[in-house]
Amino acid sequence: MSVLTVEDIQTYYGNSHVLHGVSLEIEAGEVVTLLGRNGAGKTTTMRSIVGATPPRSGSITYAGEEITDLTPDEINARGLSLVPEDRRVFPTLSVQENLVLAHNLARDPRPVEEMYELFPALDPLRSNNGRNLSGGEQQMVAVARALVQRPDVLLMDEPTEGLAPVIVDDLREIVRTVVDEDVTVLLTEQNVDFAFDLAERGYIIDTGEIVFDGTVEEIQERDDLLETYLSVG
Ligand code: ATP
Repeated sequence: MSVLTVEDIQTYYGNSHVLHGVSLEIEAGEVVTLLGRNGAGKTTTMRSIVGATPPRSGSITYAGEEITDLTPDEINARGLSLVPEDRRVFPTLSVQENLVLAHNLARDPRPVEEMYELFPALDPLRSNNGRNLSGGEQQMVAVARALVQRPDVLLMDEPTEGLAPVIVDDLREIVRTVVDEDVTVLLTEQNVDFAFDLAERGYIIDTGEIVFDGTVEEIQERDDLLETYLSVG
């Protein structure tokens, strides 16, 4: 059964029409990737789902209920957590404070301590301020902050951007651990290898329209798609 359904959404920034009828359907427990070039509309799709840039028309349904017109906090409280592309770690709060803040907003959070087990590299950094963390450390905090909320649906917007390969490997393992616990994941990526390793199914977006959907194997076999829409090949 579909847990998250995006139906024909049209999203704008002011007068700029960015999403032209995007539809996605994600089943409970699936890992689905949304792929596309720079500026294709991946972030805008994520922002539409979490209520940060609500669509002007179309609908978004989560667990059978319409969430299109809810506020970001209401959507988050329903069990959807976003790891934003720009991380948004609070610079003047410590790692621990960033995690506690997210924890306190969730209806059924995990203990904050569990996050240090999942991300051992964060343990010695508990009292470091966000602004003193490296890009990789900030990304770990951004992911931990989403996971501490025990989301039903984890939305990750280009999580590997700017990360060293060894950190990408750690992140892949962490996402696998979480997926084993039945979290549903929607992942946008320009790093197609990371997405192909984790996802079963994918959508390709280009200039605000879905141009292909299929299994990851189907996408991998299509050199034309990889070349035209994903700058691979
Ligand atoms: P990226 O990999 O660069 O994040 P993306 O696929 O996530 O790409 P979006 O960020 O969703 O793409 O951008 C889609 C389009 O919307 C682009 O043409 C972009 O220039 C435009 N856009 C994004 N944010 C804004 C904004 N705040 N105001 C106006 N236009 C915007």
